[in-house]
Parts: sequence; C-alpha cells; structure tokens
Amino acid sequence: MAAFDHDLIVLGGGSAGVRCARMSASLGAKVALVEGGPMGGTCVNVGCVPKKLFSIGAHVRDDLEDAAGFGWSVGATAFDWPTLLRNKDAEIARLNRIYEGILERSGVTTVRGWATLAGPHTVRVGDQKLRGERIVLCTGGRPWLPSFPGSEHVMVSDDLFALPALPERMVVVGGGYIAVELASILHGFGVHVELLYRGSLFLRGFDEECRRHLADAMRARGVTLHFDTQPQAVEKDASGTYRVRLADGRALETDAVLYAVGRRPNTRGIGLEALGVNMNEHGAVHVDDTFRTSVPSIYALGDALDRLNLTPVALAEGTILAHNLFGGAARRMSYDNVATTLFSTPNLATVGLTEEAARQSRPRIRVYTSSFRPMKNTLSGRQERILMKLVVDDADDRVIGAHMVGPEAGELIQGVAIAMTCGATKAQFDATLGIHPTAAEEFVTMRTLTRT
Ligand code: NDP
Repeated sequence: MAAFDHDLIVLGGGSAGVRCARMSASLGAKVALVEGGPMGGTCVNVGCVPKKLFSIGAHVRDDLEDAAGFGWSVGATAFDWPTLLRNKDAEIARLNRIYEGILERSGVTTVRGWATLAGPHTVRVGDQKLRGERIVLCTGGRPWLPSFPGSEHVMVSDDLFALPALPERMVVVGGGYIAVELASILHGFGVHVELLYRGSLFLRGFDEECRRHLADAMRARGVTLHFDTQPQAVEKDASGTYRVRLADGRALETDAVLYAVGRRPNTRGIGLEALGVNMNEHGAVHVDDTFRTSVPSIYALGDALDRLNLTPVALAEGTILAHNLFGGAARRMSYDNVATTLFSTPNLATVGLTEEAARQSRPRIRVYTSSFRPMKNTLSGRQERILMKLVVDDADDRVIGAHMVGPEAGELIQGVAIAMTCGATKAQFDATLGIHPTAAEEFVTMRTLTRT
C-alpha cells in the first residue's frame, strides 16, 4: 500500500525550497512544492535581487558625479523612482516565471496556496491534503517590527520595494545589513537619510576597522549617522510629517521612517508547535546536522533556521539535503569561510575571521592593511579611500580573514574566498602576481606588516 503520495513535500518556493525540490526530483524523488506567494521567496521578490538593482541604480549617481574629471559634460540629470520601480517589477516577474519553469521542467508538482501541517506526514493546502514521506520547511523569514508607540507609522524593507514615491527625508532605524544597505541606496537617490543605531558603532560582528571606515565614508557622503540612539515613539502630524522621539529627549522630523531591526523565521501558524517541532523563542527551527527537526519526518532549511541568512547558504543546504535524502550521500554543511557583502556605498565585503575574532581564537596573528585612493578618484576628485585587510594566523601562515571596504568589494572578495577555502597561506598570496593597475592586486602585494 502506498502510504504517501510524495517522497518529499517542500513548504516554500524560495532559494532553499526551489533548490531542494528540483535537486530531489532530479535524483528521482516524487516532489511537491507548496508556495502561496510569487516564486523565488525573499531573495527574488523583496531581498537580494531588487536590493541589488536599487544599489546599482544608486551608484549611477557616483558615475555621473565623477564624469567631469574625465572630460564628460553630463548636463542636467534627474532620477525617476517610478521608472526604476516599474523596471524592477518587470525583471522580478521574469525571474518568477523562470523559477516556475525550473520546477516544471524538473518534474516538481507545484501547489499554489498556504500550507499547514496536519500531521508529521500530512500537509493541507486549502481543501487539498498531501501525504509526504518527508516534509521540508523552507518557509524563510520576514521583517520583524517591535511594538512601540507609533509603530503603525513605520515601514519595513518589504514596503520600500513597493513604495509609490520617494520621500525627501527618511529616518532608518537599525544597524545591520538591511538598515545600512537601504540607507546607502536611499541616499544615492537623493533622499536625506538619518540612520539611528542603538549601539556605539553599527554592523556588530563585522571587522571593527572596516565598520569605522564605512561609517566615516557614509558620513563624508552626507548620510547622518546617530549612534547610541534609540527611538521611543513615532508621531505623525496632520501635514503628514513624522516626529521620531529619541530616548535623550530630542526629536527628529522626517517624511518617512523605515525600521530594519532584524528578521524572524516564518514558522508560526503552520502547525509546528502542535506537532512538537522544537523552535527557539523567535521561531527558529532546531535541526541536527542532517537538517532533521525534533519530528523525524520533518526537515528545515534556510532562513527558517535563522543561522546564516544568506541565499548561497540556503542553496547549499538545499543541495546537501537533496543529495543526502535521495542521492545516497552523507554530506554535512560547512559554515566556515562564507563570504558576504554588504551592498552599502561603498561596499563592505568579508570572508573568514574579523581581526577581533582572530585575536580571541589564535595565540598570535599578523594583520596587513592597505588604505588608498582608487585610481578613478585621482581624476574624479573624490576623496574616498579603499580599505583592504588580511588577517593571518602566525602559527601556520594561513590567511584566516580578508576584508574590504570599497567599490565592487564583493566581486573582489569572492576570489579571495576561493583561496581561503583552499587553505592559502600569506606566502602563497605574496607569490601570486597582481593584475596592474587594479585595486584587487593590493591583496597580493601587502608586504608590510601593520600590527601583530
Ligand atoms: P541584522 O540582524 O543584520 O541587524 C539587525 C539590526 O537591528 C542590528 O543592528 C541590531 O542591533 C538592531 N536591533 C535589533 N533589535 C533592535 C531593537 N529592538 N531596537 C533597535 N535596534 C534593534 O538584521 P537585518 O534585518 O538587517 O537583516 C537580516 C538578515 O538578512 C541579515 O542578518 C543577513 O543575514 C540577511 N541579509 C543579507 C544581506 C546581504 O547578504 N547583503 C542583505 C540583507 C539582509 P544590535 O547589533 O545591537 O543587536
């Protein structure tokens, strides 16, 4: 008797879900994927993709400003937000269709609607009941907004991606990826941005020298950064102006308030509690190193775990689970040396350990830094400097951290991440010939020790 109609039922059509579903199907499994919203999840619809398109758009401002030094007369320029929004929406609709096509061609059955779990093997979608030998939760996360007086007046990142008109002034609250990226993007489009962060320096967890370098660069560009500041309330007056009341008694006037103070897993209201799936107080699902939850037939991946909420991590987790379940593999996910980039202006990219973390975990380290004006800025007149940094374990000469603040930092760090995954030593970096003239060559020409 066939007790199950599917080998695997995937809840959620984001990066983790689509990858796990199609890989499992390609390995011969009978797979259904349930999704209630547009295909592609956070990354495609309200995350990486629209954010990067906006970031590219915001950087055009630099190109226009820098052009004169190279002899170009650009004339009057204007930015039209609705055009960017329309073009972004068209691109995302194209990607949604590509995702649908990928699933279809892989032989995955797509079920449209919101799923709940009626048992360890049973998924309900409206009137439909699906029975799966295994179920995998790939339900992602969503912006979290604390409750405070006036919280109904503020927007979150999802709202920004559909905002009909750009305000003249905006207060951004938060000091993580989303707050800093969106503050940079909005500033690039000409919005007067004030960023409020509760600690003494934003981007906790990133390399401190890079955080300071980025803060200085953003301030020099005209973004107002208020650290050690926490809003108490947001008021809206009859004219539509907002007043953000701060703990120290001051108030900031603005035309819009954006909160980016973290994301929470999308795991409530699915029926996980009733089944006994263990989660933390924020709804992050506990799994073992095979992604299995406390209920043996249920697995979880991606932002639902709230570990490293990055698309490439979700993709890798989805691939590994599919191969382990249906390909006879016994792979484990490594979260070491995951490179990441903050698409701020300028970018901050990083792989491996920060200087602070390296000092705590290694008896002796060597730190090499380089700060210089990129070649483009010599003629453009822009004063902004690049910061590049290598952290080396003195015991075996291995490069254990690489960090950069500067244009296209993410593009550069990706290659360094390959070298670090291979366990490259500083001597091997030094033996690599540079490409001249580039900023990237600095990573292989840092000869002078900055400090130990
Ligand atoms: P983060 O966890 O990165 O940052 C949250 C920020 O909000 C921190 O600065 C935190 O401060 C602050 N905060 C938390 N609670 C409060 C509060 N009650 N009041 C005021 N401030 C508060 O979250 P994001 O929302 O920025 O991003 C979520 C995740 O999405 C990221 O961690 C990342 O994994 C992923 N992401 C990745 C991107 C990329 O790869 N480029 C881009 C965007 C998102 P404190 O540090 O003091 O706790």
